[in-house]
Amino acid sequence: MSTLKQPPSETLVWRNRFASLGETFFTHLSPSPLPAPYWISHNPLLLSELGWPTQGLSSPDALLAFSGCAIPEGAVPLASVYSGHQFGHWAGQLGDGRALSLGDVDSVQGPQEIQLKGAGPTPYSRRGDGRAVLRSSIREYLCSEAMHGLGIASTRALCLTGSPQPVRREDIETAAVLTRVAPSFVRFGHFEHFAANNQLKDMKTLADHVINHHLPECVTRAAEGQHQGNVYAALLQVVTERTALMLAQWQAVGFCHGVMNTDNMSVLGLTLDYGPFQFLDGFNPSHICNHSDHQGRYAYQRQPQVAYWNLFCLGQALAPLINDQELTLAVLESYKTIFPQAFDCAMALKLGLPNEVTALGEPGPARELSESLLALMAQEQVDYTVFWRRLSHAVATPLETTDASVAAWASVRDLFLDRPSWDQWHGRYATQLALRDQAQAGRSMLAHNPKYVLRNHLAEIAIRQAKLGDFSEVETLLTLLQSPFDEHPEHEAYAELPPAWASTIEISCSS
Ligand code: AMP
Ligand code: MG
Repeated sequence: MSTLKQPPSETLVWRNRFASLGETFFTHLSPSPLPAPYWISHNPLLLSELGWPTQGLSSPDALLAFSGCAIPEGAVPLASVYSGHQFGHWAGQLGDGRALSLGDVDSVQGPQEIQLKGAGPTPYSRRGDGRAVLRSSIREYLCSEAMHGLGIASTRALCLTGSPQPVRREDIETAAVLTRVAPSFVRFGHFEHFAANNQLKDMKTLADHVINHHLPECVTRAAEGQHQGNVYAALLQVVTERTALMLAQWQAVGFCHGVMNTDNMSVLGLTLDYGPFQFLDGFNPSHICNHSDHQGRYAYQRQPQVAYWNLFCLGQALAPLINDQELTLAVLESYKTIFPQAFDCAMALKLGLPNEVTALGEPGPARELSESLLALMAQEQVDYTVFWRRLSHAVATPLETTDASVAAWASVRDLFLDRPSWDQWHGRYATQLALRDQAQAGRSMLAHNPKYVLRNHLAEIAIRQAKLGDFSEVETLLTLLQSPFDEHPEHEAYAELPPAWASTIEISCSS
């Protein structure tokens, strides 16, 4: 394994903070090189957001570094150990089975950890080959950027490389390496690991690491006397709040994660580990996007409850550190108010209405309108993204331009078969809209209801072309999904209703 003295390391300052925790937390090892690596895509937007040199991804050395064929000077590659609950059962030790962390690099947004996903086997690979296939790597690459574009916290994707190396899944596919970036990849499962093994001192080390480097507000809150001055209760509280907010945003945009195991839950509240995820096409609350999830544990409508269950696992792990059972339970209980509030807020924004609470503390009209609308949409399985975007345009179209306004509202109504129910709902909504500046509500709605999401079939088309060596569709989608609220009139087709074959796509855990 060679060490590069050239860019991308040249102008990057490495910190390797996780590596400083000691070898209880990880195993040092080098990536396993892949033959004949090639570029699939770069993400210049992320480079510039982080203030990293734009030439950092263009050199031949960068290709070697980001395909796991060479180690940038200053990087200290390691695979971390974690455990977790998978599909509701304790799975024991897991760990980075195919992701290698290169270390932390300074950026204008603070230090960022860089991981190579698919860089070869590790001591935590169990029966896996340590690789990631082109198909699933393209999905994660595009979706992490799509989530960020939607304003939803996520790990990011810096670049994607491929190799002709065959990789066996259901079929023989080829290998890829995804370079992903986040302030930290610490998962609920990291804490569960040390709790399960009774390594209380190590768990405290990890908790202090997360608090000091990533969630310093825990210290402030405890110092202010919140959470009874208990910094570990503050940690659980912050993770609870971030998770609740993330879940509210997932639900509001119609995102199904697919594998909400506790080892796939970030303590920073980032959307993490994209596998069989899906953005809803037709609105079906019981939709299961993961073909391997036979019980529907991770169905769309169950996600908020599953997040609570996962937080409970984290709370159980942290309980010995918090050392106050009542306080631990009280913190966890707060999810039951924080999530609904965040969801109400997200849905009110989608409707262009204020998220009011009445003088009696009862929810305002937005709550009832949102609940009845979702029930109606579920009954008809109305396309989720198309509906909200058409509704936003209808509200944004000035009433004076009557023909345009009539046409815009007709295009929403056309989505429903049960017209009387729609008309009834529309009447009640119009009453609320009439109380405020409709043009302003419409503008706000267009900024909260995306035109473009990474529907399964869009990813599928990009994957099929990439398998033939054409990565142009990956590029097009990347650009489009990074600004999903903009019109992009030249890409209208990407915002249309999905083709019939979209419903036949089956995505499993195999990746
Ligand atoms: P996931 O369901 O992708 O979150 O993975 C669960 C666990 O399996 C984690 O410990 C992964 O690192 C590991 N894993 C998944 N796929 C592979 C693979 N192909 N090779 C090695 N480990 C893997
Ligand atoms: Mg995972």
